[in-house]
Amino acid sequence: MAVDQALVDAAIEQAIARFPAGYSGAAAVRLETGQILTSVCLDPPNASAALCHETGALCEANRLGLRVVASVCVSRSDPGKPFLILAPCGICQERMALWGSDVALGVAVPGSPGEWQSKRLGELQPHYWRNAVTDAGE
Ligand SMILES: [Zn+2]
Repeated sequence: MAVDQALVDAAIEQAIARFPAGYSGAAAVRLETGQILTSVCLDPPNASAALCHETGALCEANRLGLRVVASVCVSRSDPGKPFLILAPCGICQERMALWGSDVALGVAVPGSPGEWQSKRLGELQPHYWRNAVTDAGE
């Protein structure tokens, strides 16, 4: 399922609610039921223990036993700047692979801030490591 503006808006609303001043960011995922879950990063003093914005919503989807069909992550450096759509990092892409390569993802595009497009997870990972295993029937 493609990312739509409602999912982007949900992420932005969560970001502003949690981080009204300074840096702001959040993620929103849509479940197979249509429900939207949002979450924010965990940014402890030891950066090696940090978690991405998507992590909480992905874990909650897994707890509910529901499939994630779309995901978006937003970020801005301060309230005077527009939100950027960020592609999921490699670790989050691996987490999303739990639901297969059909998960649609908001992807940052170069150019004007605020522009985005929806890509399938498989489009971000055309050479995903597990394809070799599944293509071989293992
Ligand atoms: Zn990530």
